[in-house]
Amino acid sequence: MSKVVLGGGLSGLSAAYYLSKKIPSQNIALIESSNRLGGWIKSNVLSDGVIFEQGPRTIRPHGEAGANTLSVIEDLGLSDKVVPILLSHPAARNRMIYANGKLHTLPSTVGSIFKKQSPFSKPLIRYLLQDLFAPRKNVPDEPIYDFVSRRFGQEFADYLISALVCGISAGNSKEISVKFLMKQMFEYEQKYGSISKGLVQNIFKKREKNGVKRPTVESQTGTMECVFS
Ligand SMILES: Cc1cc2nc3c(=O)[nH]c(=O)nc-3n(C[C@H](O)[C@H](O)[C@H](O)COP(=O)(O)OP(=O)(O)OC[C@H]3O[C@@H](n4cnc5c(N)ncnc54)[C@H](O)[C@@H]3O)c2cc1C
Repeated sequence: MSKVVLGGGLSGLSAAYYLSKKIPSQNIALIESSNRLGGWIKSNVLSDGVIFEQGPRTIRPHGEAGANTLSVIEDLGLSDKVVPILLSHPAARNRMIYANGKLHTLPSTVGSIFKKQSPFSKPLIRYLLQDLFAPRKNVPDEPIYDFVSRRFGQEFADYLISALVCGISAGNSKEISVKFLMKQMFEYEQKYGSISKGLVQNIFKKREKNGVKRPTVESQTGTMECVFS
C-alpha cells in the first residue's frame, strides 16, 4: 500500500524524505495544491545574482532539532549551500529593532545587559532576573507573548519577542504557540520552574554528554544563513 503526504512545503517534503528512508520500497505520493514545491520558501535571484529570500533563510543549529536539520542537509549534499555566520560576525552582533518610530540597537555584549538601553526602561538584566522569581504556570500551551510577559515582563515581550517572531516567521507573537516556536523554553519552565534554571541544567547535561558526535558545521556556528535556491 502506498503512503500519501499532503503538502509540499518543508514539513511535507521532510515527511516524504524520512518515509522513503525508513521504508525504501514504499511508494510515496506527495500531493501539492500549488504549482511549485517549497511552501513558504521563496528565493528570488535578482539580476545582479543577489538572492532575496521572501520566506525562511536561517537555520539555528542548536539542540536535537538543529542537529537533525544539519544531518538532512548533509545527506542531501546541500552543505555547500549553507553560509555559516559566526557569532563574531557583524550581522550576528548588531541586531536592531524598530520600535516607537525609530531603530534601536539591541544589547549584544555581557556588559551591555547591565546598562539601560532604549527602548527598554531598565537594564536587560532586570528582565532576565524576573524569570528566576516568576511562578511556574502549568498550562498545556499558550501564545509566546503571554509566556514571555509572565516570565520576563511586558516590555520584553513587546519589544524583543514581537520583533523576533515577526523576523522569524512574519507571525504575531500574540497568536503563535510558545510550544511550537520556543518548545525548549516552555519545557524548562514546566520542568524546572524557570527558564534560567533550565538553561543551567542543560549546560550540566551537555557537559555530561561531551564526546557525542555532532555534525561538524554546528561546532563552528551560532546562527547560519542558508540559501535555498
Ligand atoms: C517571512 C517568513 C520568514 C521565515 N523565516 C524563517 C527562518 O528564517 N527560519 C526558519 O526556520 N523558519 C522560518 N519561517 C518559518 C518557516 O517558513 C515555516 O515554519 C515552514 O516553511 C513551514 O513549512 P510547512 O511545510 O509546515 O508549511 P508551508 O511552507 O506553508 O507548506 C505547506 C504546503 O502545503 C500546501 N497545501 C496546503 N494545503 C494543501 C492541500 N489541501 N492540499 C495540497 N497541498 C496543500 C501549500 O501549498 C504549501 O506548499 C519563516 C516564515 C515566514 C513566513
